[in-house]
Amino acid sequence: MPYLNVTEVESGVTSLAAAFPTADLIELPEPTFEGRTCHALRISTHPTEPKPAVVLIGGAHAREWGSCEILVNFAADLLHAHAGGTGLAYGGTSFTSAQVRTVLEELDVVVFPLVNPDGRRYSQTVEALWRRNRNPAQSGGNPAAVGVDLNRNYDHLFDYRTAFHPSAPVRVSDDPANPDQVYQGPEPFSEPEPRNVRWLLDRFARTRWFVDVHSYSQKMLYVWGDDQNQSVDPAKNFRNPLFDGKRGLKDGLVYAEFIEEGDADDSAVLAERFCEALKGVRGKEYTPEQAFDLYPTCGTSDDYVYARHILSDREEEKILAFTVEWGTDFQPLWPEMKKIVLEVDAGLVQFCLTALA
Ligand SMILES: [Zn+2]
Repeated sequence: MPYLNVTEVESGVTSLAAAFPTADLIELPEPTFEGRTCHALRISTHPTEPKPAVVLIGGAHAREWGSCEILVNFAADLLHAHAGGTGLAYGGTSFTSAQVRTVLEELDVVVFPLVNPDGRRYSQTVEALWRRNRNPAQSGGNPAAVGVDLNRNYDHLFDYRTAFHPSAPVRVSDDPANPDQVYQGPEPFSEPEPRNVRWLLDRFARTRWFVDVHSYSQKMLYVWGDDQNQSVDPAKNFRNPLFDGKRGLKDGLVYAEFIEEGDADDSAVLAERFCEALKGVRGKEYTPEQAFDLYPTCGTSDDYVYARHILSDREEEKILAFTVEWGTDFQPLWPEMKKIVLEVDAGLVQFCLTALA
């Protein structure tokens, strides 16, 4: 089986919902620029009971093809194992039938495998390394300036020219024709695709964990992405204008982003357990790492999602947020991608179990 096209990802999602009473189909409210409607799955044994949720999304960056397969296969594995009363085996990592049951009984597992179908179609049929969506609104008629980087369009430190130090290597642009394809869009949530993700989090108000699946670099990243973490000075935080122009440098505590120590510890443990389970499959070493250590970012899903509880001042809505960067290539040959699917899925099952522990 080669990579799935857009229609096949969608039919994978809808056929799982049709086949399993433990899977509910969720239609996302916002169609894409090209008019596609997106779908997610909620996997759960007691769909009406209030339970904590884990939200897993993928396919935001068009060229990172395997993210959709990782999530469709993850959903299928959980559903088949639960229905059959079996465990799950991924190479050297395995889970018991009791563990599978625990995940479905104690969590709402919400899986949204293809956030950016327009981009995926374009990447798979026209320009393989396309990253953005296909919204031409800001392009001025220039085909190279079509589209927005959806993982820069979330509402977090969006005004990067104000927020960051002028020499911080923050990986974002306000130029639609930016050759690195990191154009942020005209304003936060200007694009329907991140608005769909936000809607999902609003709908599942008991979401406690979030994972955005990307490639590549063999890492499991946790917040923050804008600067180094620190847990000693709450005044140094993304909302404080006193620190505008100071963010994004590796300068120790001159500016470093505040995170409660318990959250930093819990995030590191979840990332470490993910990597351990993944390594058990066939020995691949993924690194648990703070997102900033890869490069400084703004407008990304993980920082936005974790920041939601700070902005709302509602502690009960806290969501620990992560970004997987699988593999060493955006589009590995399919035999290799199949193995990556298995190892990342093993990591995600362990992530769910660690979250519940
Ligand atoms: Zn990506």
